[in-house]
Amino acid sequence: MRIEYWCGHCKHLIGQVNRPGWSLEEAERSLGLTALSPVEHSEWVAYDKNAGILSVQTVCDYCQSAIERNPELLVEGKLLQ
Ligand SMILES: [Zn+2]
Repeated sequence: MRIEYWCGHCKHLIGQVNRPGWSLEEAERSLGLTALSPVEHSEWVAYDKNAGILSVQTVCDYCQSAIERNPELLVEGKLLQ
């Protein structure tokens, strides 16, 4: 499967990894996704079974530093890049 990391703020594709031999269970375990609560999991993780793509939402470096500089940006829910 392919694992894609997306920024949840600016929708930037941060990176992707190909792990052809991985099952969904192995991927979730290896990436630590099993530690997420069900709510977090449903918000941050999406699996496209037909395409074999596991999408994981995270925060890119740009948004991370923007949030650290201006925490109110996160509250407003809009970040400009
Ligand atoms: Zn971002």
